[in-house]
Amino acid sequence: MYTGTLFIISAPSGAGKSSLIRAYLAQENRHPAKVSISHTTRKPRPGEQPGEHYYFVDNQEFESLIEQNAFVEYAHVFDHYYGTSRAEIEQSLMQGINVFLDIDWQGAKQVRQQMPESKSIFILPPSLKELENRLIKRGQDDAQVISKRMHKAQSEISHYNEYDYVIINDDFDESLRSLNAIMTSASLEQSKQAIAHQQLLAALLAAKY
Ligand code: GDP
Ligand code: ADP
Ligand code: 5GP
Repeated sequence: MYTGTLFIISAPSGAGKSSLIRAYLAQENRHPAKVSISHTTRKPRPGEQPGEHYYFVDNQEFESLIEQNAFVEYAHVFDHYYGTSRAEIEQSLMQGINVFLDIDWQGAKQVRQQMPESKSIFILPPSLKELENRLIKRGQDDAQVISKRMHKAQSEISHYNEYDYVIINDDFDESLRSLNAIMTSASLEQSKQAIAHQQLLAALLAAKY
């Protein structure tokens, strides 16, 4: 039994999942958490640092990692491989650190099967128009890439009903409050509380009156 919880977060590209995870991690007094750094064969965007946003690898390296069973899940998204390293997440969960996976629905499905105790959250945009505006405003993808991501958006959104929680990311601060509520509620689950408060429970149950 891991003491940390695995949180799977999916959304159509541009809905705000990376911003929400980043904002969650930047808060003080939160539960210890980190975002799992995926491997990808896509090229770094301007400003993206290897080992910080992704581990950038080529196809050959990625395929060799698949053969070594190094991934808890992997998928082909937007013509590139993306995968989550097993070692990276297991180590953190064992140390009681919650782990966010920013992965697509195909990856989410694989992780849910292997780790049914994980929690999954789907982030929706308030409209398709706003989704497109955010992709344009982010300014990191060219028009062709944006068009591809918009075409893929509805098929990603169609999987929203496979998730435990849904956040509509219209007002950012409200979405962050919703994410905090989910994280708090997960930490209060009986199985987590039993581990976090082992000594208290033992003392409460041992006392004779
Ligand atoms: P973004 O959607 O704008 O953040 O663009 P990215 O290129 O960073 O990610 C593209 C898609 O790949 C998104 O749907 C991510 O959720 C997904 N993705 C990123 N890392 C992984 C991973 O390790 N596994 C899987 N299955 N999907 C991933
Ligand atoms: P994703 O990781 O889902 O692809 P990002 O977190 O990169 O999405 O967000 C896409 C763009 O939308 C970014 O420029 C981000 O700053 C912006 N954004 C995120 N959430 C909101 C929001 N609630 N309102 C307005 N803009 C937002
Ligand atoms: P800027 O790129 O100047 O930081 O953000 C411009 C606007 O985009 C903000 O006023 C806000 O509406 C929206 N936005 C984009 N990303 C974020 C984010 O991470 N947090 C919040 N609160 N708003 C964001």
